[in-house]
Amino acid sequence: MSLPTISGDRGLDHEEKLIFELGRAGVTGVDLSDVKVSDARLSGLRRRGTIGLPGLSEPEAVRHYVRLSRMNYAIDAGLYPLGSCTMKHNPRLNEKLARLPGFADVHPLAPQSTVQGALALIAELMRWLTTLTGMPAVAMSPKAGAHGELCGILTIRAAIEARGEKRTRVLVPESAHGTNPASATFAGFTVDEVKAPPEGRVDLESLRGKLGPDVAAFMLTNPNTCGLFERDVLEIAAMVHKCGAYFYADGANFNAIAGRVRPGDLGVDAMHINLHKTFSTPHGGGGPGAGPVVLSARLAPFAPLPLLVHDEKGFRLIENRADVPEGAKPFGRMCAFHGQMGMFVRALAYMLSHGRDGIRQASEDAVLSANYVLASLKDVMSAPFEGPCMHEALFDEHFLHGTGVTTLDFAKVMIDEGYHPMTVYFPLVVHGAMLIEPTESESKESLDRFIHVLRTMALEAKAGKKERFEGAPRLAPRRRLDETAASRKPVLRWKAPDLPKAAE
Ligand SMILES: *Cc1c(COP(=O)(O)O)cnc(C)c1O
Repeated sequence: MSLPTISGDRGLDHEEKLIFELGRAGVTGVDLSDVKVSDARLSGLRRRGTIGLPGLSEPEAVRHYVRLSRMNYAIDAGLYPLGSCTMKHNPRLNEKLARLPGFADVHPLAPQSTVQGALALIAELMRWLTTLTGMPAVAMSPKAGAHGELCGILTIRAAIEARGEKRTRVLVPESAHGTNPASATFAGFTVDEVKAPPEGRVDLESLRGKLGPDVAAFMLTNPNTCGLFERDVLEIAAMVHKCGAYFYADGANFNAIAGRVRPGDLGVDAMHINLHKTFSTPHGGGGPGAGPVVLSARLAPFAPLPLLVHDEKGFRLIENRADVPEGAKPFGRMCAFHGQMGMFVRALAYMLSHGRDGIRQASEDAVLSANYVLASLKDVMSAPFEGPCMHEALFDEHFLHGTGVTTLDFAKVMIDEGYHPMTVYFPLVVHGAMLIEPTESESKESLDRFIHVLRTMALEAKAGKKERFEGAPRLAPRRRLDETAASRKPVLRWKAPDLPKAAE
């Protein structure tokens, strides 16, 4: 956007070029003597040309990234109401502990006798996860929720193969997160959708109609993506088990029930836990997550390598099939090493500093916050489902009908108001969905201010005051982008503009 200043910057917000436009190839911020280029040492592979890395001095590089970071939004900057994503405060105590050299500097190939403390920490985190979920086993290596889903589904596949059966279908409710059908498909299953009835919970009759001897698993999120607790979960588990299938729970919403409900008591066979959601480890921007998978006794033997064991010689990671204890039949492994150590430290720090009662309180406060938002806004916005919600408040576009304002316009105005937008157009079962997850981190004052902004926006939209909405955001470094074109035709490689050749 062109700005009415001489510099192109606006106040303390800087316009920033791409690093390739800033830097000059061949320039470097460090003073190294010329390297003697040796001949192809990589078995015949030889560099054919320059790779054109931009050269910047240290202050130039620092400024570039600081300026970019100031165009960004973060939980440390303000309320981040992105539904389903659980953007809660990341306690600084967790960061302090994760930076202790004994955890931060361990190498994954260090001899195990030298990292007994790190292994003990993983074992303690496993104990917390199995205790909180009431499940006997947990696989720690998956590196995100989606990776955990894949791990859980591959465990189920191995168990079915071990039974000598052929089951090809996985049932997924219409309201599920997109990663559920993706994980099942990736593991080689056909996905069959279970319809969502108008009440926003799984319809037992359509589930019953879909179950059969070829069904491997039913995947359910509870509380579900509409922010509702699946009250029939015990009956659902019984139906799924009766037909010989496994009950997979998407545990991304565990932060609504942790400390109150144990998924093991609900008949769950496998569930991933997003440590970066429920247990406050940082996420977003593609940073590291962690998605451990808890398993029922029936699935535990098929958990992937490595296995962590404790005997008279101390803690030990079993890396090979040949070394596994009697009865274990690991399906394979999910990644090179044992998982995200830094996230394990942060998650355990969160658990130990909260205690079981504190974790329960966090869940209750998250639910309370969401219900406060729902109750404060449902007279001016529209809620598709009756009654209270769990940890996220769901609205639809009904209140915008006839105003000429869309869910997208509404979300984009929030950027001008200093907020990250809520999740929009998800879950798909609700038209023009707006999913708000305030989490337990926000004070009542912070929620009141947020509610005031949304109320005013809704009232203005209904009063025909559209100026605010047209083309929003107006105050962000970039105006509204063509997101469809960006995802359909992504430009992933920078090309140097054709500059006129300088005179020789
Ligand atoms: C976040 C989320 C996932 C995926 O987790 P990632 O860690 O982002 O891979 C799956 N299901 C639901 C309901 C989620 O909210």
